[in-house]
Amino acid sequence: MSRIALAVHGGAGTISRELLTPSREKAYKEALELALRRGHAVLERGGAALDAVEVAVRALEDTPLFNAGRGSVFNADGQHEMDASLMNGSDLRAGAVAGVQNVKNPIGLARRVMDHSSHVLISGMGAFEFAHQQKVELEDDEYFFDEFRYQQWKEVVGSDKVQLDHSDKEKKFGTVGAVALDAAGHLAAATSTGGMTNKKWQRVGDSPIIGAGTYANDESCAVSCTGHGESFIRAVAAHDVHALMAYKGLSLEEAVRVVVHEKLPPLDGDGGLIAIDRAGNIVLDFNCPGMYRGHVGSDAVYHTAIFR
Ligand code: ASP
Repeated sequence: MSRIALAVHGGAGTISRELLTPSREKAYKEALELALRRGHAVLERGGAALDAVEVAVRALEDTPLFNAGRGSVFNADGQHEMDASLMNGSDLRAGAVAGVQNVKNPIGLARRVMDHSSHVLISGMGAFEFAHQQKVELEDDEYFFDEFRYQQWKEVVGSDKVQLDHSDKEKKFGTVGAVALDAAGHLAAATSTGGMTNKKWQRVGDSPIIGAGTYANDESCAVSCTGHGESFIRAVAAHDVHALMAYKGLSLEEAVRVVVHEKLPPLDGDGGLIAIDRAGNIVLDFNCPGMYRGHVGSDAVYHTAIFR
């Protein structure tokens, strides 16, 4: 039996210490810990890494604190378009959705794409039709309304400005994700996001792109990214961590360091990622001031942090 381990993130960026009041900081850490507890419970009873990452991401999608599910940012039309993906490391199966609306848990829909369709990535109205067919839980627009994100949007709506999930004072990416190692030694990764404030033309970032925002392979590691999506796509960031381990023999820590601190910065790739390897080593790294993050191992001790 291998050791079990799980890590989660709630986005990276320039998180200002002044804006993060003690009560807000507490709320973020509690939300991260709740996600860890949910996912860890799955692993503890011998459940699959894939189920653990889905459950953990669902918990993060259900809070308005992060830019995913309920807390998703507004697009140029004042709507919410969400992206999500997950991948199973033992057989490289994957599922993803892009630009979906009114779906309570986009990660659950991505799981259904993987389990109940012959596709990997579906989008827009087609994905909505599939959601109906699969009878996944839908919510009306009010469920996704958040005053803070509405004000963020009001500042830029009507302009060409596309904002990551930040105000001028606070530049952060609120995407959520999870990676896990289960008792059978299998790895999995999941990522979910509302994308960028005021995005148009059905812009899609890295989060639903297998290899860019999410990747898992039992040979090496499982990875979930957060940051400037366009850069992460160009860097094929998540798969690159795997490739550096599989082809170059780097350790998880070294592979993550190369991607986060050497490959992404020249592409304006602000952000970070969480990763786990077959031995249960966890690396949570970022090239900006902070990342909402947490991890737990076999000892069931929950760790959460925001700043370096
Ligand atoms: N990577 C996400 C995107 O570009 C944003 C984020 O991480 O918050 O859609």
